Amino acid sequence: MNGDKLSSVGVIGAGIQGVCTSLNLINKGFKVTLLDRDEPGANSASYGNAGHFSPYGSVPMNRPDILIDVPAMLLSTTGPLALKWNYAPKMIPWFLKFIQNCTKKKMMHTAKYMHQILDLALPAYDELFQDIDVTGLVERKGIIYFWTNKDLKSRELEINIRKELGVEQQLLTPHEIHDLEPNIRRIYHGGILYPSARHATNPKKILIKLLDLFLSRGGIFKKHNVETINFQSDNQILIQTNLRNFIFNKVVITCGAFSKKLTDQVGEKIPLDTERGYHVHFKGHDHLLSRPVIFLNKGFGITPMEQGLRVVGTVEFGGLNNPLSKGRILNLVHNAKYLFPDLSEHYDEWLGFRPTLPDFLPVIGASKNHKNLFYAFGHHHLGWTLGAITGKIIAKILNEESTNINLTPYNSLRFD
Ligand SMILES: Cc1cc2nc3c(=O)[nH]c(=O)nc-3n(C[C@H](O)[C@H](O)[C@H](O)COP(=O)(O)OP(=O)(O)OC[C@H]3O[C@@H](n4cnc5c(N)ncnc54)[C@H](O)[C@@H]3O)c2cc1C
Repeated sequence: MNGDKLSSVGVIGAGIQGVCTSLNLINKGFKVTLLDRDEPGANSASYGNAGHFSPYGSVPMNRPDILIDVPAMLLSTTGPLALKWNYAPKMIPWFLKFIQNCTKKKMMHTAKYMHQILDLALPAYDELFQDIDVTGLVERKGIIYFWTNKDLKSRELEINIRKELGVEQQLLTPHEIHDLEPNIRRIYHGGILYPSARHATNPKKILIKLLDLFLSRGGIFKKHNVETINFQSDNQILIQTNLRNFIFNKVVITCGAFSKKLTDQVGEKIPLDTERGYHVHFKGHDHLLSRPVIFLNKGFGITPMEQGLRVVGTVEFGGLNNPLSKGRILNLVHNAKYLFPDLSEHYDEWLGFRPTLPDFLPVIGASKNHKNLFYAFGHHHLGWTLGAITGKIIAKILNEESTNINLTPYNSLRFD
């Protein structure tokens, strides 16, 4: 253990990135204080996600073919994509950078470096899960994606890239889908099972168990809103919160989609924005589904969870401040009832914020301007899957250990 025990680290944001980072750091001997403006897991993306552990998810959204589909998707009120028009002007710089990243070469770059960390994601969780009881909280039944013929062309592209990367996938006929999940209305023409994928039946409970382990090992949690970051010297970082000041030797920003408010302050222009997503729950229908499914044409999925069937989806561009869109909720409900006509009334209407960079790679590593300030955010649709491995990488970087991973693609310098 190389960790300088006197080195104090402040971790800002107690979503899955912050909790896994804090736990990995304390395991290395650092003195760690985790700060969040909210109760951990109360309402963050790490609470409301679909719970997929998706090591197969390397094919990014920045694909050349997506540009053809986007305009029609944005104009449709029932499609998977939506835009809050009042936010469109603010989103233009992000969109322009996104378009630049939609070449075949850039897509393959993202796929390669998402695969690099996704491949390590489940083993990293297994290390953390050795010390907590996740019985009943993590299921190993795989995840099914299905589609109608309409979308088959782009499916082929994904299937081929995954094959190239060596991702385990099993093509399914309609019969096989029906055998695995007999209660879904038989609208599909094909599908894929990712057998090594897992799912969480309650992401919040897992997050709290990891947090409790961190606290039991001497970690500190403070419910504070971080307002400013200032540097008294290279290794004296002053954090001002709504309640008091802290001085840390090192700081890690893990605020998900909200990280940009802090990185802007320290003089870095990282083009982080958010893809808003929604969920609703249906109670009392657990018998209908045994594993997560995703209906690709409609861009939504259903995960069997402790709270009921969690229907999750939508990519909505609308920033952090716009209210929840009732239309997106109704769309999810409508789509869920299309697959399962017997569903009753939904409850819970949740809006969450995926943190997304225009090249669909996260930012993991030291800041450009300050060697004791570190970042771990921007994991978009895969942040739940990538919590443990990101925390492991960050702890190794702070501990000055080799990671044996090419970290250059995740550096914020790429936006210079
Ligand atoms: C609808 C939806 C479905 C998803 N499904 C999946 C899935 O199935 N699998 C998957 O891998 N990923 C999924 N994701 C993505 C995943 O949930 C996110 O990428 C991940 O949770 C981000 O984690 P995080 O810790 O970076 O951020 P968050 O979970 O957003 O946590 C950030 C924390 O920072 C705190 N914070 C922010 N600003 C401050 C401040 N100034 N001071 C103090 N605290 C602050 C917030 O209160 C929050 O607790 C989904 C996301 C959504 C929205």
